[in-house]
Amino acid sequence: MAKRGKVNLARPDWCKACGICVEVCPVEVLELGPERIEIAYPDNCVGCENCELSCPDFVLKVVKENDE
Ligand code: SF4
Ligand code: SF4
Repeated sequence: MAKRGKVNLARPDWCKACGICVEVCPVEVLELGPERIEIAYPDNCVGCENCELSCPDFVLKVVKENDE
C-alpha cells in the first residue's frame, strides 16, 4: 500500500511564510497563505517528513501512517 502521513501545524504562530516547505514537498499538500502556511490538500501527504525536517522554525509536525 502507498505510504501515508498526516502533517500538522504544531506551532502555527512561528511560521514566517518562507515557502521552504512548499518547495520540498514531493506532492501537493502545502500552500502559502497570506500570513502563514496552510495545509491545502492534507489527503495527498505521504509522510516523507521533508517539510518538518526543512522548516527552520519547527512549525510542522508529521505523523506517519501506514495503510498496511
Ligand atoms: S510529510 Fe512530505 S508529503 Fe507530507 S506535507 Fe510534508 S513534505 Fe509533503
Ligand atoms: S518552512 Fe516553516 S516557516 Fe517556512 S513556510 Fe513552511 S512552515 Fe512556514
